[in-house]
Amino acid sequence: MTASASAGRPRLVEVALPLPLLQTFTYAVPETTRHPIVPGSRVVVPVRNGRTIGFCVGESDGVSLGDTVPKAILDVPDAEPSLRADLLALCRWISEYHVVPLGLVCRAVLPGPLGLAARPAPEGRTERLLVIAQELPTLLERDAAFKRAPQQRQLYELLEQLGGRAPVPLLLQRLGCTSSVVAGLLKRGLVREEREGRSRDPFASRPAGQAAQVTPSAAQRAAIDAILAGAPGAAFLLHGITGSGKTLVYLQVLEQVVRKEGKSAIVLVPEIALTPQAVDRFRAVFGDEVAVLHSGLSDGERLDAWRALRRGEKRIAVGARSAVFAPLANLGAIIVDEEHEASYKQAETPRYHARDVALIRAREAGARCVLGSATPSLESWKNAQDGRLTLLSLPERVGGGRLPAVRVLDLRQELRASTPDERARRQVISAALEHGLRERLARGEQSILLLNRRGYASFVQCADGHVASCPNCSISLTYHRTPERLVCHYCLHQEAAGRACGDCGAPMERQRGLGTQQVERLLVERLPEARIARMDVDTTTGKWAHTTILDRVGSGEVDVLLGTQMIAKGLDFPNVTLVGVIDADVGINLPDFRASERTFQLLSQVAGRAGRGPKGGEVVIQTRVPGHHAVRHAAAHDFLGFVAEEMASRESPPYPPTLRLANVVVSGLDEVAVADFARHVTEWLVGAESRFSLGVTVLGPAPCPIERIKTRFRWHTILKSVHAAPLTRLIRGLMTGVEVPGAGEMRLVVDRDPVSLL
Ligand code: ADP
Ligand code: ZN
Repeated sequence: MTASASAGRPRLVEVALPLPLLQTFTYAVPETTRHPIVPGSRVVVPVRNGRTIGFCVGESDGVSLGDTVPKAILDVPDAEPSLRADLLALCRWISEYHVVPLGLVCRAVLPGPLGLAARPAPEGRTERLLVIAQELPTLLERDAAFKRAPQQRQLYELLEQLGGRAPVPLLLQRLGCTSSVVAGLLKRGLVREEREGRSRDPFASRPAGQAAQVTPSAAQRAAIDAILAGAPGAAFLLHGITGSGKTLVYLQVLEQVVRKEGKSAIVLVPEIALTPQAVDRFRAVFGDEVAVLHSGLSDGERLDAWRALRRGEKRIAVGARSAVFAPLANLGAIIVDEEHEASYKQAETPRYHARDVALIRAREAGARCVLGSATPSLESWKNAQDGRLTLLSLPERVGGGRLPAVRVLDLRQELRASTPDERARRQVISAALEHGLRERLARGEQSILLLNRRGYASFVQCADGHVASCPNCSISLTYHRTPERLVCHYCLHQEAAGRACGDCGAPMERQRGLGTQQVERLLVERLPEARIARMDVDTTTGKWAHTTILDRVGSGEVDVLLGTQMIAKGLDFPNVTLVGVIDADVGINLPDFRASERTFQLLSQVAGRAGRGPKGGEVVIQTRVPGHHAVRHAAAHDFLGFVAEEMASRESPPYPPTLRLANVVVSGLDEVAVADFARHVTEWLVGAESRFSLGVTVLGPAPCPIERIKTRFRWHTILKSVHAAPLTRLIRGLMTGVEVPGAGEMRLVVDRDPVSLL
């Protein structure tokens, strides 16, 4: 019995609840509980008419209670705290920095079922899958088979597109047909049904591959030694060009940390589905010690993996951003591969950046942290320059490989050189690119074609490549239809959507996006003998569609892989000798200060897919702005040149990493109300800034470049600050001081260190 209990007063604890309120709540601990309550314990508590899972975050003196009688905790479900001290501290940091309720952070950090008051769903929850049972390889057979069943044909073809296996609900929804169509196909034996249960984790069944016996190069050796010699908590930026063998460095660091020192480690990759090869390499070396945390796991599988890590049965967690919270004790290393990737930032509350969390967690745990990339983010580059990260370089490709030659193809010249009836198609696939594709086909080599997805924001551009941009912000202006005008989404500068280009007088045209399907059709027409695989959001809806497509490329069943950004990363196919970028300008013109950086990264990454084998490789970049620094430096494989130019441009007007940003976004269903509230929020921010002189610049409000998402209108205000602390203070003041009108329909969200301002 504790002292306070003996004095007649119950023990009180502070509980963080997953509610949109920044404070914690005081609860009384009953005399007997199923398990002890310590900081990090999950507790079931009464709220309003129901109950919810909260997290004990510490003892309470009850002062804030006043006269109210605290409610009692109902249950303590776990014998041990779900969040050990280190993870609870990490949650606190995220909660404070991003100004998000601690309870929401705690819940986000744990596997889904642990955030629910009800018991986790029993195992064996299955999904109905349809699988092709009988292949109909020729068109003729197919026409015969589906003569009187056009819907069955559609469904069968969709199933084929999705890699021959897909969930039934998805198929029905995509085609808008009823399950009778499925029944028809089943009856004819063309497809069969499977239930996907626990054992379908493809990483569990996938052969791990052979651990290649390679000797590190001198540069790899130097990087490995430097990392291992680092003090506890030391952090490194491993800048290694594409194909320089960064993975081997990671593997050897883990050998030492996990095998020799007996510690645990976390490996973060941008997206598991897109990087099966990298994951295979870790499994090849560490086998069963690796837990692969990926989005395809069922709740039960995720919980199993979490428990195995927690108990120390597995000591390496490999996964996307949330794996940074893997419950590993005795952490020896955290690796963040492709550290520049925007997907490390969580797009919803809590909007943490896994790279930053990794640095903090490693520092607190005394673990080594390695951020790796061929094209480091400007933030990390600056951290390296300022000495917060130790810079390590792998300047050459391993195994005698060389970076591919890059040809920048000027689409304006292509236009002039084409006959009128060639023009449209030559602006998509130039004569040189088509020639390159034909050569590869003839030689039995493979090609990759990148079609950058156009952002939702539209801009205007003349045939010469000039784009209307803001005189204040060096950001391209966004075209708005009603009323027709061009708007800067940073400072609200507006101008008429003029007909002529200010630079050359040519007419300005609104840019409309080209789809992967259109490009695919053109390819089929021009290269009928080529085996083409398309990889975009439409062909990768099935959980394992990415892996299936990539495996087909790896085994040589595909001649041309055409895809969006998702094909640019991490692929290591030695037989790919040509990479084509259909339109490099797409990303450059997004109204975002990182547009050039992202384009440079994308071009460098995709160029790095070519020439990874002894046959070498070639890259063709199609563009209307061959002189743009993102294109020029990517073509020259010159990261340092790009960084020098881009870093200078971030100084005036100032953008990160010169200073820090927060994006305050208001959204709601009523356009006028949203604009009004955005103005109110901005006035509040300006008022607070002038009262407290925090040194924060308030810009806005303006409609977001993507004005409307899912029927919600969006406005934003941008905050700029050299220092972090005043920005935290201002955001905290805003979130506690401004009441959001509109009965829950209107939202006020602050995105700190945003990776996109769209
Ligand atoms: P990166 O991630 O830097 O682009 P990878 O780690 O994918 O490069 O390595 C590229 C290829 O080089 C892989 O096939 C890898 O097995 C191989 N490789 C790595 N290090 C060496 C080495 N020292 N000698 C020979 N081949 C190597
Ligand atoms: Zn502007």
